[in-house]
Amino acid sequence: CGVFGIYAPGEDVAKLTYFGLYALQHRGQESAGIATFAREKVYLHKEMGLVSQVFNESILQELPGDIAVGHTRYSTTGSSRVVNAQPAVVATRLGSLALAHNGNLVNTVQLREELQKAHCNLVTTTDSELVALAIADEVDSGKAWLEGAIAAFQRCQGAFSLVIGTPAGVMGVRDPNGIRPLVIGTLADNPQRYVLASETCGLDIIGADYLRDVEPGELVWITEAGLASFHWAQQPQRKLCIFEMIYFARPDSVMHSESLYTYRLRLGRQLAQESPVEADIVIGVPDSGIPAAIGFAQASGIPYAEGLIKNRYVGRTFIQPTQTMRESGLRMKLNPLKDVLAGKKIVIVDDSIVRGTTSRKLVRTLRDAGATEVHMRVSSPPVTHPCFYGIDTDSQDQLIAATKSVAEIAAQIEVDSLAYLSQEGMLKVTQEDTNTFCTACFNGDYPIPVPELVKRSKLM
Ligand code: 5GP
Ligand code: SF4
Ligand code: MG
Repeated sequence: CGVFGIYAPGEDVAKLTYFGLYALQHRGQESAGIATFAREKVYLHKEMGLVSQVFNESILQELPGDIAVGHTRYSTTGSSRVVNAQPAVVATRLGSLALAHNGNLVNTVQLREELQKAHCNLVTTTDSELVALAIADEVDSGKAWLEGAIAAFQRCQGAFSLVIGTPAGVMGVRDPNGIRPLVIGTLADNPQRYVLASETCGLDIIGADYLRDVEPGELVWITEAGLASFHWAQQPQRKLCIFEMIYFARPDSVMHSESLYTYRLRLGRQLAQESPVEADIVIGVPDSGIPAAIGFAQASGIPYAEGLIKNRYVGRTFIQPTQTMRESGLRMKLNPLKDVLAGKKIVIVDDSIVRGTTSRKLVRTLRDAGATEVHMRVSSPPVTHPCFYGIDTDSQDQLIAATKSVAEIAAQIEVDSLAYLSQEGMLKVTQEDTNTFCTACFNGDYPIPVPELVKRSKLM
């Protein structure tokens, strides 16, 4: 999901949030929502669909105030319905709160039971609503906003980057492992005013300047008084989702002081060094495989070419909830350039193979277009374990690399050769401390313990 928040009296906060969400659209295309606060009153609009479908000028004009929180949804828990759209708005003793969540809790069963005992009315089915209700529960037992929120976060286990609006200010929070990203910016013409966004591309679009990341286990509280920081977690550690860097975040977003485009170029170069192949051209799978394909071409000396043209108006295939939708989505999406491909030995680079359905279709497409050899190179290691922290990599039995060897996968997707990047290579080219990432979907080393019951739902 994508989250955005702003505190800026005198600015059109709904419109700034709209643009922020527009830049974060790739993080979720199922629903979009904005909540604003004008004095004590909360205004909310959320619907199924893309940001551009959900909002227009007149809807934005009905979202007044100084504070706004926005969300684009990619569902990993709860069904794909408008009741599950966010922000989740909940009433408390101190007024309403509006919560936008990116990530996934692993202790929802327990949290739900606790909240049901406290007589909370559980309307929707998402873990995000549970967090909002947990805060309301704490606030209604007499705590102030900050105290109440921190007490609630201590009851949550899992991945959560949150932006929470209240009548008093906006909070930005990351879980103690910092699995999902969250950055702080300041408005260019008013550096006293702060913005929160999942990625820096959400700041760039409104001309805000990047200040810093919210730290793992940190809460920032943005009010009239400015920005205050609280480190609320006992043992924070850095475990950023490596898939954010490989695939999920936009290539123009900055993490660790460089664009992800640059990181993905290095992934491709490393891949070429590890698994060279003789070929005429290197192509990438648009859009996410392109930077690594360019890196592969640079390191191998094989010319880079565009071999597949993407219809930019079709959403990410992976994110659509059903298999049938996924398959028809893919047919709509990529068209081969026959005159580039015909008679050529091709290296095709993609960022990941999850189920393998994308790759098999693409390989057939390339052969139909006249490719004589198709060699696939993947700029991440085999995905062998499901994600419990907010990326929808499905249950383990859906993951092709969980049950098949590289040779078996090569046969199934019908390539002449197949190679994946090594885990060492992936981590080495981050140029960061290799312990500061979650890599569980490649090695099953889950940084946040996953309760047995939850594990069983996705593991074989
Ligand atoms: P599959 O192997 O499941 O058919 O699809 C892999 C492709 O889906 C890759 O091109 C990758 O860019 C794309 N993709 C879309 N969403 C996701 C996601 O959430 N995680 C991963 N790893 N890949 C995704
Ligand atoms: Fe990211 Fe994989 Fe960890 Fe999930 S399991 S948070 S996708 S690295
Ligand atoms: Mg892709």
